[in-house]
Amino acid sequence: MKKQYDIVIAGGGVIGAACAYFLSKEKDLKIALVDLKKPGNASRASAGGLWAIGESVGLGCGVIFFKQMTQQRAEAEGVDLPPMRPHILPECFFEFALKSNDMYPALWQELKDKHGVDFKFEKTGLKYIMYDKFDKLYADSIVEQIPGLAEQINWLSAEELAIDEPHINADAIGALEFACDHQVNPYRLNEAYLEAARQNGVELFLQTPVTGVEKQGNKVTGVVTEAGTLSCKTMINAAGAWAAELSEMATGTRIPVAPVKGQIILSERLPKILKGCVSTTDCYIAQKDNGEVLIGSTTEEKGFDTSNTLPEIKELANGAMRCIPELKQMNIKRCWAGLRPGTPDELPVLGEMDGVEGYINACGHFRTGILTSAITGKLINDLYRGLPLDIDITPFKYARFLKQKNEQQTPEIEQELA
Ligand SMILES: Cc1cc2nc3c(=O)[nH]c(=O)nc-3n(C[C@H](O)[C@H](O)[C@H](O)COP(=O)(O)OP(=O)(O)OC[C@H]3O[C@@H](n4cnc5c(N)ncnc54)[C@H](O)[C@@H]3O)c2cc1C
Repeated sequence: MKKQYDIVIAGGGVIGAACAYFLSKEKDLKIALVDLKKPGNASRASAGGLWAIGESVGLGCGVIFFKQMTQQRAEAEGVDLPPMRPHILPECFFEFALKSNDMYPALWQELKDKHGVDFKFEKTGLKYIMYDKFDKLYADSIVEQIPGLAEQINWLSAEELAIDEPHINADAIGALEFACDHQVNPYRLNEAYLEAARQNGVELFLQTPVTGVEKQGNKVTGVVTEAGTLSCKTMINAAGAWAAELSEMATGTRIPVAPVKGQIILSERLPKILKGCVSTTDCYIAQKDNGEVLIGSTTEEKGFDTSNTLPEIKELANGAMRCIPELKQMNIKRCWAGLRPGTPDELPVLGEMDGVEGYINACGHFRTGILTSAITGKLINDLYRGLPLDIDITPFKYARFLKQKNEQQTPEIEQELA
């Protein structure tokens, strides 16, 4: 006999697990979560930064990527080029990221005290380290564009930085700090959501691939897995970088979510060398609560490849040694690569799809799925229950891509008609 559920969540990374947790809090729904940990699963690969402002303005992986692009273009064209910088994400993303960030202190207490898993929330701040006038100009332009967040911003002179972070290169000319950007242990965050969901009655089908979706007309009626078919009223697609495959099975449409590779280096445990997380144009560095130092991260469009490659690892290592010269003595514990679920506009894909019943997207979280898992879980719960939503999710719905396509086509049609 087929098992019957209200909701089946496909994907058990941080997003699927957060949805399972928030939906199961009232213990009134029959929920299953199905996950096969594929190589490149992003949540286990992540740095665990809750860099709500930093990532929204393009620091972290964004600025590293643009510096590399400038170098590649300059080499190809044989000229010196001013550094290209990432764009700032739209206002709707800031709201999404900052609201999620605000949820972490209470969520940490709740998951620790009620469910027994500590995901190691640490108040660190994020400092953008500046080495030269180009870095300072970039920092100035960031600050100009976010006047509403002035109270979260601290400028540190070279002297103040040296006192605050004495291990950072004395050549640094100062730093721009975002006071509300913190960090967690991403692996434990994923575990905390999953364990709490399990304690709330969610059935976990782990190491279990989803192989198909059953439908009647335009309605999803079940999720086919290697452990049998799980009948359901609603399927949630939280399959990370693999979400396009699942959306095609469920709706006939491939949502535009694609893997974006990121490589990371992890050191062995070190004495405390960093008070906060830091980002430079070469890398970001975060010392975790157990002393290990994490150095990330590349941004590569290489499909589902999860290899570690010497030139990219070398670039990150050089950037880290420039920022904290003592890291020259560090031992590498391991390197890895993960697959971010990327979208063309760097915004997630949330909510239903027109013309399909019993299907909800919770995917496409690209560089910030750890940070935005909390608000995503809450929004998907509220959406499912028909409750008012904390934010307007229209900018994150799949329909935006259709609108963009129509707008791109309109001038051609108008020309043809003329
Ligand atoms: C190097 C790196 C550093 C990062 N740093 C940060 C950071 O500091 N802060 C931050 O907020 N974010 C960060 N991110 C981004 C963040 O990790 C992702 O946005 C987030 O983990 C996405 O979560 P997810 O649950 O959507 O995807 P995933 O964690 O990939 O989970 C999806 C799950 O679905 C499973 N699945 C797929 N298809 C099937 C199927 N057919 N059947 C069963 N299971 C299936 C997958 O195997 C996987 O387990 C980083 C990412 C990378 C790669």
